[in-house]
Amino acid sequence: MGRRIAFVPTMGFLHKGHASLIREAARHGDDVVLSIFVNPTQFAPGEDLEAYPRDFDGDRKVAEKAGANVIYFPDVKEMYGKNYQTFVELEKIPAHLCGLSRPVHFRGVATVVTKLFNIVKPHTAVFGQKDYQQLLLIRQMVRDLNFDIEIIGGPIVREPDGLAMSSRNTYLTPAHRRQALCLYQSLQKAGEMVSAGVRVAAEISAAAKAIIKTCPDAQIDYIALCNPETLEIISDIKGQVLMALAVKIGNTRLIDNMLLNTESGT
Ligand code: AMP
Repeated sequence: MGRRIAFVPTMGFLHKGHASLIREAARHGDDVVLSIFVNPTQFAPGEDLEAYPRDFDGDRKVAEKAGANVIYFPDVKEMYGKNYQTFVELEKIPAHLCGLSRPVHFRGVATVVTKLFNIVKPHTAVFGQKDYQQLLLIRQMVRDLNFDIEIIGGPIVREPDGLAMSSRNTYLTPAHRRQALCLYQSLQKAGEMVSAGVRVAAEISAAAKAIIKTCPDAQIDYIALCNPETLEIISDIKGQVLMALAVKIGNTRLIDNMLLNTESGT
């Protein structure tokens, strides 16, 4: 049997969340390939493509320490040559959550991940649950397009105070960094409410909204309680429910999510 390749696609500016995915990949492959590519097709005009933080030397250290032995670092011309015209689009998953405010985003993600899969040819690929909708989309795409690749989801890695790690956290001023905690606080509150027997989704969203409203620079994109498979909005909490949030703190758009469970509380 040949060597098994485990793959972790990223946009770089690596943090402990990425490192945990690399370590997970190392459990599944003999070779661990990390890609770093800030993919222009998943950014809309006016989003942060140019500002997106980059640090190849720092990334190389994090990647090596976590167990990656190949870094694939293509440039834009290599990925999207002159006259590029092929895109991968899913019909249903992008019609929810982040897809509503970022209409071209998931077509860019599906396209670049397809290209990376064809280039790297991994046996396994690891994606973070931090981008829950993205993970769902990749799983669907792999089934629909018959990719022979095992997809693994890695848990969300958080800062000690609960903020989900993100390369975009670097944009936050100290005041915004403090306000950014409202996403995690909303999710925690939701977990507590479900444990206490609350089953009306609107009550949970209202509590989250109240927490976020206390932050002067926060602007809610969405607070959603939805079916974890289809992402359709639900009104009654039954079994497992995904709570997902997107909130702008100043100009920085942050996302977070948690699975709420009526059986175990969260
Ligand atoms: P990005 O570089 O932000 O495109 O993310 C690359 C991969 O890392 C994606 O699969 C993300 O879901 C994952 N990721 C980002 N942040 C975290 C985190 N805090 N915990 C776990 N995985 C993460």
